Order: sequence, then C-alpha cells, then structure tokens
Amino acid sequence: MENIQNVLASLPEVVADTFGQGQPAGYIPALSQVDPGKFGMAISTVDGDDFVIGDADEFFSIQSISKVFNLSLAMHYAGEDLFRRVGVEPSGTTFNSLSQLEYENGIPRNPFINAGALVVTDALLEFVKSPKRDFLDFVRGLSNNIDVHYDEEVFRSEYDNGQRNAALANYLKSFGNLDNHISRVLDFYFYQCSVSMSCRDLARAFRFLAQDGKHPYKDEQVVSKLQARRINSLMMTCGTYDEAGEFAFKVGLPCKSGVGGGIVAIIPGEMSICVWSPELGPKGNSIVGMEALKYFARKAGRSIF
Ligand code: GLN
Repeated sequence: MENIQNVLASLPEVVADTFGQGQPAGYIPALSQVDPGKFGMAISTVDGDDFVIGDADEFFSIQSISKVFNLSLAMHYAGEDLFRRVGVEPSGTTFNSLSQLEYENGIPRNPFINAGALVVTDALLEFVKSPKRDFLDFVRGLSNNIDVHYDEEVFRSEYDNGQRNAALANYLKSFGNLDNHISRVLDFYFYQCSVSMSCRDLARAFRFLAQDGKHPYKDEQVVSKLQARRINSLMMTCGTYDEAGEFAFKVGLPCKSGVGGGIVAIIPGEMSICVWSPELGPKGNSIVGMEALKYFARKAGRSIF
C-alpha cells in the first residue's frame, strides 16, 4: 500500500472536478449556510496514528452519523432485544420515508433510516439518566475531545423544520413502537444530530468499529466483538440509505453518511476514515466524499470483498 499520507495528499486534485454537482442540505436552514467548497479527510489507524488533509480539523454537523453512536449505546444496554423493534434490512427508500411503516406494522426496516433511529432513541431513553449529557460524554470519550458539543443553532433550525420527523414519531407511536412522549424522543434525536465535531474527531471515535468494539482510548469494550461486526454490516447495507448498493459497488467498505456532508468508513482491523464535504447528491450523501472514498479504497487496495 502506498503511504497513507501520500494518498491523502493527492486527493484534493483527484476530487477537484467533483465540486459543484450538488448542494448542502436545504431542508435544515442552518446547514445550507455552510461553505460548499469545504473538504477534509482524516484517518485513524488501530495503531493510534492519525493522518489528515484539508479541513479535517474544522467542526461540522454530524447529523445521521450520530445514528451509529445511538445504535452502539442502545445495543450495549439493550442487546438483542432492540431488534424486536427495529429490523436489519436495507430499505431502498429515502432516509426520511414513511411509506414502509404502514405495511410493516410500525417496525422500521433498519436503525439508520430516521424511523429506525427514532425507535433506537426511544429505547436508549430507558437506560440513560441524563440523555443529553450521557450521549455527549460518550461521544467526547470516544473522540478523546471535550470540545465536541451540541450546536444549538442547528438543533433549533432542525427542530423548527422537523415536521417530517414529527410525522414519523407520531406514526411510530400509533403502532405502539415508541414508549416515551413524542417530544422527548424528537428532542433527544435532534440533539444527537446536532453534534458538532471534526473529521479527526470522527475518525478517532469510530476506531472501535475497526478494532472489534474496543474503546479507542479506554481499556473497555464499547460494544462486544459480535456487536461491532453487526454494526459494520448494517453500515455496509443500510448506512447510506438508497445509495448503499452504489457505495458497496464503488467504495466496498461499511460507511455511514450524514446530511452535514460527512461520511465515515471502516476498514476492519486497520483503520477508520472520515471525509467531509457539504455538497450532497439526490440521496443525501456527500458527492465529493463518496468520490474521495472510492479513490482512497482503490489506491490503498482495500475492500472488505
Ligand atoms: N437530522 C437529519 C434528519 O433527521 C438527519 C438525516 C441525515 O443525516 N441523513 O432529517
């Protein structure tokens, strides 16, 4: 494999032509203000080394990447029981779709579409005393950075425009698949999505999935080895929604995206990667980010297949 830093250094030129083909998320007004030309990437290896390029130390809104933290914590506490309330099948629909719930008795297809993440958030509320504080402490611990924070402006912006998620929560509740009050679930979910951190922080935080569930900075398991494998397999099949097939085809690694423009990818046993660029394609995934991951995986000769 070519030196990691050399591959990273060649990326800005490789992805240069990919800019200008998409737009930052518009349905959360605060996200549409972000400079579309941003590009950063970070790698954190299981040996503890970091490699970064571009805007890798700039904070951005992690949005649905938070669903992996949400799921990991809930699996840690609830174990297998969680999967009575949420499935493990790719949805083939947009991340905020309502339609499948009608025919599937309010059981969301997987934990990474919004409906699934709302159910997981509801389940997690049973185990955490101070949800907001405990969730943030968890992410700060994983990234080893106490500056990671909730972005109140993004939270408010999504809260004020979150009718689709409110509809999903109401619909789930009508099937009896939410225990807590709808506003409590939505509030906690929007806070999770509003977490602000950098590519470097995210690459570090996701290292537990590259090393069989072991915490990157503490002598403890975040999740069990089997659970880490399962989270990776869910990222592979569902992490980028109705573009997961395309990601498997072009990148060949478990990935999780967010509408803030971040994408995290895992090379099991070796490293975690985070790329950020705010312009999104029609499926809500970063266009430049996907291109960068495709190039990196090919150059580095890595794929889980
Ligand atoms: N907070 C966003 C939402 O619920 C997250 C979506 C995403 O990043 N794909 O719509």
